Amino acid sequence: MNCKTLSPDRDPMGRAILDFQQTGKAGRLRVLSTMFDEDEMPVEHLFRDLSDMPVQEQKALSLANGRILDIGAGAGCHSLALQAMGKEVKAIDISPLSCEAMRLRGVRDVECVNVFDPSLPDGYDTILLMMNGAGMAGKVARTPVLLRRLKQLLSEGGQILMDSSDLKYIYEDEDGNFEIDPDEDYYGEVDFQMIYKEVKGDSFDWLYLDYPLLSTLAESCGLNCERIVEGNHYDYLARLTKK
Ligand code: SAH
Repeated sequence: MNCKTLSPDRDPMGRAILDFQQTGKAGRLRVLSTMFDEDEMPVEHLFRDLSDMPVQEQKALSLANGRILDIGAGAGCHSLALQAMGKEVKAIDISPLSCEAMRLRGVRDVECVNVFDPSLPDGYDTILLMMNGAGMAGKVARTPVLLRRLKQLLSEGGQILMDSSDLKYIYEDEDGNFEIDPDEDYYGEVDFQMIYKEVKGDSFDWLYLDYPLLSTLAESCGLNCERIVEGNHYDYLARLTKK
């Protein structure tokens, strides 16, 4: 797995986050994919507070304890909420611009580092991957590499809290049947590219995992997996612990 961080001139999301932090507004953060129509990510959503968070995120924050690692922390909304609860959290992200925004917002322990960077210390009691953080594996085949890395970062008795969703609803026809071809690549494997103002990011793989598949992959990595919250739109929060 690569363990690089982003260059600011290839980091549209980080640029949008820092703009929003510094000026209170941001332009359009465009999301392109070879598989979907062009979309937009509302930048203010990345600045949501506890009351605006979906139930699975609120539940994850309430379960987080001990030394917490917020991976892919973005604008730092979960880290800030945890700090406000008096919890101890370290926020990491590969975006130097997002990390700058988090520092400006008052996140106390921020590091611009890739989760795969071996310099990242281990021993966390809670690892958070919010807003479909497992997606950073990119492909089903690479998910065990991510899960084993997360396991390595855990303390004895620690927990990984991650949310994701099952994209099968995209393939639902008018009669409620799912048209999924088992010979194709897994339907939750997607590609994205983001553009903000003149900043164009590289295209990257992202993954949405249905719960049974996450559970099977977790088991194969020596992790127990349980579904803590089932959302109302094919989404869920899972907790993984060492066997
Ligand atoms: N957790 C935040 C942001 C989610 S967007 C929220 O819920 O609002 C995903 C974030 O993960 C982005 O900020 C991206 O820069 C970061 N990211 C992607 N790959 C990463 C990696 N390998 N290590 C650390 N952060 C990563």
